[in-house]
Amino acid sequence: AKSQGANRYLFFNDSMNKQAVKRLQLENLIRHGLKEDYFAVYYQPKMNIVSGQLAGVEALVRFITPKGGVISPASFIPVAEETGQIIEIGEVVLRKACQAVKGWIDQGLFHGRVAVNLSSRQFSLPFLCEQIDEILQQTELPSYHLELEITEGTVMQSPPQAIDTMKKLRARGIHLAMDDFGTGYSSLAYLKQFPLNTLKIDKAFIDDMKSARGRNMVDTIMTIAHNLSLSVVAEGVEQPEQLQQLSKLRCDVIQGYYYSKPLSAQELTQFLQQQKQR
Ligand code: C2E
Ligand code: CA
Ligand code: CA
Ligand code: CA
Repeated sequence: AKSQGANRYLFFNDSMNKQAVKRLQLENLIRHGLKEDYFAVYYQPKMNIVSGQLAGVEALVRFITPKGGVISPASFIPVAEETGQIIEIGEVVLRKACQAVKGWIDQGLFHGRVAVNLSSRQFSLPFLCEQIDEILQQTELPSYHLELEITEGTVMQSPPQAIDTMKKLRARGIHLAMDDFGTGYSSLAYLKQFPLNTLKIDKAFIDDMKSARGRNMVDTIMTIAHNLSLSVVAEGVEQPEQLQQLSKLRCDVIQGYYYSKPLSAQELTQFLQQQKQR
């Protein structure tokens, strides 16, 4: 029994080591990527359900390897959050997204909003508003073209402070969306105090719409949001039946593979040109 215990200890230690090594490798890769400009921004179109027209885009970060491979954020964002590198990545994404959108606006291809994800650490930066002001000024993007997506977890860390920051952002004309709604420690008491424009219902709830219970749940969230005068975006819509059901429930906007997957800047330019011709 004793030797077994020792083995277990060794095994545990070894897997912990592997994890630590992997984490360190990722941290180095991210540092290298920041230096060499390997981070790119993809854009996922969102569709207005009533008009069927483009409602805006969400900016989603990608790591492009020197060989042209695309690494999704799920694999590096958690490490970047831990190491704090997410702050620098976030700034890069914000700058690139504002710059690209300004270009599409100038070409007459786009007039909506770009939604950029903010991590908790970014949202709590004491100079967040100043940083955003500087980026908007440099890129010459009017603030009303920018939307920021914040999760429940981020705002619930310190609601009074969050409300304060959110008010400052809203005062600049920036729109605010609550991301992944329903997956965190949401508080209905706070929801009405947050100066939000939009609520994004997490994909998990949209997937659940196969059942009557799931549809009731989405219906309830929709009612709460509309009572608070918030527009509702459904995430991860893939099937035409989901769109039909969401339309019946008077959802405002859908985002998902049904309409479009996230596109590179070049692909989105083509998408916008095709939209214009229609
Ligand atoms: P999110 O903010 O909830 O973004 C939506 C995710 O769902 C994206 O994954 C998108 O590609 C994916 N998606 C959209 N439609 C569908 C669909 O119909 N089916 C399925 N299966 N998936 C769909 P992505 O791009 O891999 O990003 C994952 C997460 O990484 C994001 O989730 C967000 O939390 C984080 N993230 C991405 N970019 C950034 C960023 O610039 N900053 C920060 N802080 N986080 C980011
Ligand atoms: Ca998001
Ligand atoms: Ca989301
Ligand atoms: Ca999500």
